[in-house]
Amino acid sequence: MENKSFSKETICVQGGWQPKKGEPRVLPIYQSTTFKYETSEQMAKLFDLEESGYFYTRLQNPTNDAVASKIAALEGGVAAMLTSSGQAASFYAIFNICSAGDHFVSASTIYGGTFNLFAVTMKKLGIEVTFVDPDAPEEEIAKAFRPNTKALFAETISNPSLVVLDIEKFARIAHGNGVPLIIDNTFATPINCRPFEWGADIIIHSTTKYMDGHATNVGGVIVDSGNFDWDAHADKFPGLTTPDESYHGLTYTKKFGKGAYITKATAQVMRDLGSIQSPQNAFLLNLGLETLHLRMPQHCKNAQKVAEYLHDNEKVAWVNYCGLKDNKYYELGQKYLPNGSCGVVTFGLKGGRDVSIKFMDNLKLAAIVTHVADARTSVLHPASHTHRQLTDEQLIAAGVAPDLIRFSVGIENVNDIIADIEQALAK
Ligand SMILES: *Cc1c(COP(=O)(O)O)cnc(C)c1O
Repeated sequence: MENKSFSKETICVQGGWQPKKGEPRVLPIYQSTTFKYETSEQMAKLFDLEESGYFYTRLQNPTNDAVASKIAALEGGVAAMLTSSGQAASFYAIFNICSAGDHFVSASTIYGGTFNLFAVTMKKLGIEVTFVDPDAPEEEIAKAFRPNTKALFAETISNPSLVVLDIEKFARIAHGNGVPLIIDNTFATPINCRPFEWGADIIIHSTTKYMDGHATNVGGVIVDSGNFDWDAHADKFPGLTTPDESYHGLTYTKKFGKGAYITKATAQVMRDLGSIQSPQNAFLLNLGLETLHLRMPQHCKNAQKVAEYLHDNEKVAWVNYCGLKDNKYYELGQKYLPNGSCGVVTFGLKGGRDVSIKFMDNLKLAAIVTHVADARTSVLHPASHTHRQLTDEQLIAAGVAPDLIRFSVGIENVNDIIADIEQALAK
C-alpha cells in the first residue's frame, strides 16, 4: 500500500501487507531462514546489494519488512528496520553513525536501560556521551557539542520522568551543529506524536510497549525520515558518504539516496551484530499495531482520570502527568501531544519511599511488573527496580525521585482502576 495517502487508522489496520489475488489476507509468518534462487548469479547480485530481495533472515525477511514498512508509514518516514529489542534499536541507531573516538549528546531524562547503554557500554566501545538537561536553554545545551559530535538523542515523553520534549528546540540545536536528531518515540507512539513533523531525523521505538501493547514480545524499530543531508556533512559521516570496503567500495548515500541510513544499518550493522526480530514476534507486533489507534486514546482517557483523582487526593504528595493544567509540561503537551500523551502517570505519596512501596504491595488489579505501557494496568518503583543501577545523583538527573511510583494505566474500566488505588491508599 502506498501508505502516505492513508490516515493513521487505516495504516494501523492495513499498512505494510497488501495481498494480491489468492494470497493470504493476513500477513503470513515467513518462518524461514533462507530463500530460494534459480541461478548462482541471482544470489550473487543480492550479496552485492545490486538487487533487492531476500536471501537470509538476519538481513531481511518478508514478515519483518511488512511490519517495518507499516511503522515507517505511521511515522511518515521513508524506511525502517525491526530489531530484537528497543535496546538494540537505540544502540544501532547511534552505532550506525558513531565509531570509536566519536561523541554524541543525549537528554539526561531517558529510560534507565538506555542511560546505562550510553554511559557505560558505549563508553567501553570508545564512544562518549554528554548528558544535558532537556529543559535547559538552547545556548546551554549547544555547549555540549564538540567537533566530533555525531548525534543528539532524546525521548518524546521520557520514561519514567514524563518530561515532554521541546522537539523543535532539539531539532534546531542538532541541525545547528550539523548532526541528526534521534528521538525515542516509545511512549507517545505515532498515534499521539510524529516527531518527523517537528524536525526529528531518526526515530526509534521499543515496540515492546504500546506498539505490541499486549506484553507478548520484546522488539524494537529504527525509522528514518530520509531528511538528513549526510552529504552536506560528509566529513562527519564517512560511513555513509565514503566507500564501504565490506561491499566492494559501494557508497551508501550515492547508491541509496534517502534510503542510505537504513540500508547501512541493515547491510552492515545488522549483518555483523545480528539482533534481528524473529518473524513470529513481528507477526505478534503487527497484531498489536492493528489496534494501536484504538488503544492509545483509551490509555490517555483513563490516565487523565487517574491523574485527576490522584491530584485531588490528600494522601498524594505530588502527581506528574502533562494532561494536568498545573503540570510543568502542560503547554508543551498541548503543542506536541494535543490528543493525549500516554497512559503512564507518576506520583509520590506523603510519607515517602516506604509508604509508596507499601501502597504498591496492596494493589490488586494493578500488578507489580517491570513492564510498562500495555493493556493491563501495572505499577513499578523505578528507584528499586529499573533504575537500581543509578546513583542518587544520576537518579535525580534522570528525573526519578526516590518515592516515584510509575503507574501505567491500562485500558480496563477506569472506575475499577481508581477503586483499586482507593482501597490500597486506605490501607
Ligand atoms: C523499554 C524502553 C526501552 C528499551 O526497550 P526494550 O524493548 O526493553 O529493549 C527504550 N526506551 C524506552 C522509552 C523504553 O520504555
